[in-house]
Amino acid sequence: MENDTNGRRLSTLATSESGIITKVLGHGSFRKRITEMGFVRGKRVTVIKNAPLLDPVEYEIMGYRIALRRSEADLIEVTPFVGRSADEPTAAPAVVEDQTANRFLHQAGRTVNVALVGNPNCGKTSLFNLASGSHERVGNYSGVTVEAKEATARHQGYTLRLADLPGTYSITEYTPEELYVRRHILEQMPDVVINVVDASNLERNLFLTTQLIDMNLKVVIALNMYDELEASGARFDYEALGRMIGIPIVPTVASRGEGLDRLFDRVVDVFEDNEPTVRHIHINYGEDIERSITTLQEMIWENCDIVAHYSSRYLAIKLLEGDRETLSRLRETENFEAIRQAVDHETARLERFYNDRTETVIAGARYGFIAGALNETFVSGSADKNRKATRIDRIMTHRIWGFPIFLLLMWIMFQATFSLGEIPAGWMEAGIERLGEWVSETMPEGSLRDLLVDGVISGVGGVIVFLPQILILFFFISLMEDTGYMARTAFLMDRFMHRIGLHGKSFIPLLMGFGCNVPAIMATRTLESRKDRLLTMLIMPFMSCSARLPVYVLLISAFFPRGQGLVLMSIYVVGIGMAILSSLLLKRLLFHRAEAPFVMELPPYRIPTARSVVRHMWNKGSQYLRKMGTVILLASVLVWGLGHYPRPSVEQQAALGPDELTEWQAEHSYIGRIGHAIEPAIRPLGFDWKIGVSLLSGVAAKEIVVSTMSVLNQPVSGAAAGVSAAAEPEADTEADGALIRSLQAQRYTSGPRAGQPVYTPLVAYGMMIFILLYFPCIAAIAAIRKEAGWRWALFTVVYTTGLAWVVSGLVYQIGRLLA
Ligand code: GDP
Ligand code: MG
Repeated sequence: MENDTNGRRLSTLATSESGIITKVLGHGSFRKRITEMGFVRGKRVTVIKNAPLLDPVEYEIMGYRIALRRSEADLIEVTPFVGRSADEPTAAPAVVEDQTANRFLHQAGRTVNVALVGNPNCGKTSLFNLASGSHERVGNYSGVTVEAKEATARHQGYTLRLADLPGTYSITEYTPEELYVRRHILEQMPDVVINVVDASNLERNLFLTTQLIDMNLKVVIALNMYDELEASGARFDYEALGRMIGIPIVPTVASRGEGLDRLFDRVVDVFEDNEPTVRHIHINYGEDIERSITTLQEMIWENCDIVAHYSSRYLAIKLLEGDRETLSRLRETENFEAIRQAVDHETARLERFYNDRTETVIAGARYGFIAGALNETFVSGSADKNRKATRIDRIMTHRIWGFPIFLLLMWIMFQATFSLGEIPAGWMEAGIERLGEWVSETMPEGSLRDLLVDGVISGVGGVIVFLPQILILFFFISLMEDTGYMARTAFLMDRFMHRIGLHGKSFIPLLMGFGCNVPAIMATRTLESRKDRLLTMLIMPFMSCSARLPVYVLLISAFFPRGQGLVLMSIYVVGIGMAILSSLLLKRLLFHRAEAPFVMELPPYRIPTARSVVRHMWNKGSQYLRKMGTVILLASVLVWGLGHYPRPSVEQQAALGPDELTEWQAEHSYIGRIGHAIEPAIRPLGFDWKIGVSLLSGVAAKEIVVSTMSVLNQPVSGAAAGVSAAAEPEADTEADGALIRSLQAQRYTSGPRAGQPVYTPLVAYGMMIFILLYFPCIAAIAAIRKEAGWRWALFTVVYTTGLAWVVSGLVYQIGRLLA
């Protein structure tokens, strides 16, 4: 996020250009000095002399000439002023200029860059979404947001540009998120930071606040989850705390949008330096540490550049904490060597004195500060919601009962996906069948009609009927996420995950993988060690994403009359099993690692809001429909075209009967040739060439397997003639009734198995296993490449497809022996 829409930096103005100052960035003493010189909002600056590469630059402001360093001019934001240049005689009255300036200020000076910073799971994204009307992912567990998301909100004529950052417990350099948040703050220099604080967990949340205090930023605290604080019966004089730490505190309930107006009022006040509460305080780290801080600060002050950008106190504290990133930030300074020696010297002195790491001592002082502040302002409630959570958790995460409960809930979810989804899916199916009939009756015969009926309507229609099932699945996933149950399952699995060489923490991205692998692969960034990240990423494709659901539902409806929920669940279980085996194998072969200890957090149980559940479903639904209109549509047309061409000559058409013609087409069309070419490779799995082609097309996106099957297995035997003749009059209650009947009727027309059905339950099961395991879609591979590089992306392609071939081959061959 460059500040381009806000205006430019003063340093970018060329000689004799003018600009109106819209904002002064930078820090403490620099800000003070520069405003004293007249660089304040609304004033016009003209560049007198700006030679590229040459420092400093000469400016005229309020009739004075002032030279600024380029790096300093970089901290002043301006809107280019198009008008008279400064050299021209002032002919127009000054008022005009003022008006123009006001207009500029109105546009540019009223844009406030706001960063949302806070612990994981404290409600940042909820706040962000409600304030800006965005639809970012919210979940009742940590690690949901991994990248900065941006959106704007308007408030009283101001444009707030909000950045939703990943959650962090502190701003050190231990995890990628922490570094990410820190870089965002230091490099993007937001005008105001909203520190979202979970009111039901003040002590831990305020730890981050103490670091923001050190950084000397403009901060407003959103005291979120205020509803939970009130329900617990606690009493909290947050205004007193705000005065104590010099930061305005505003209670909010982000999930319902309460308090946001007042919060943004404060943000604007702080931005305009209009807020009496604001005061920069120093957390006292004790006499000895303070002395070291001062020593280092004095050395840092010698570097104007650095001091203009960062608080020297913050840098000094970070150096004492042994922060490598801060040290490397100072590498360019002239007295770097001296600073480094001083850091070593001071650290050694302190560690001798405290007999502990400085970092630990400083953290202790921070907690001491918080405890002191809360002691005076906070009285905890008697209605302890933790007690209730503990009671529920005693059952939900029970060593023995936890697992059957988990399985039962899963089974309910899958069974409901089936039985509830079937009804609306049947309606949609009937509607699409009607549409196909109508088009083939009204349009003149020809390739265009075939394209529409057999390509577009069949292909897209075949996939779109699974929308209800997708929505239901996400309804359940979203319920489990928002209540906090998902996080419990991670806890349940932790012991187990350790045994297979992973963390309980890896479980969260893996769970997200059931929705879609792509964001889940990105979510592996929450893991500390690169090896954990890689391992989790590599087994991610075995988490069956929702795009594969339509294929399962289709095949199960067609070939498994009973126990449908169980069959579906078994596919997911096989996927998880493969993930476990792969993890064990890859860990042994590729990584030998030491375990990094970590604490998993159990969020409190929360009743999900209807809004968040509906939004989750809506997002998924619209995403699904968008995919229909793009990838699936394109693939359907392509598959249809490859199956339709080349056409037989007129003589051939005349000579062959309708069934023979179909056969000719199957042999000679492009798709027939491709299918027959790959058939030997899939014959051991019991697949025919049409299945082969469907699987091949699924490489782009898994739903395409269904659309391809739809296009290839036209309901009527004379495929070229379209669906018109034999369309069934009565409505079906199952999704894709026509396609199901067509699949059931498929027979081999030649070869040793001529006359036998193509699909048996065994073949269908093997096919589902293959789809579960083989090549994840292109988007997932691209995500792996982005996170881990080409080599691992390629590895995933080969590994998953090879495994799919072996496992579904075993299923088929062993199944045949048993039958
Ligand atoms: P983030 O990790 O900081 O982005 O937090 P999220 O926005 O994902 O929210 C975490 C969970 O807290 C979700 O289940 C929200 O519905 C819930 N939540 C957010 N704000 C509030 C609030 O003010 N009160 C209550 N009771 N729940 C909230
Ligand atoms: Mg979030």
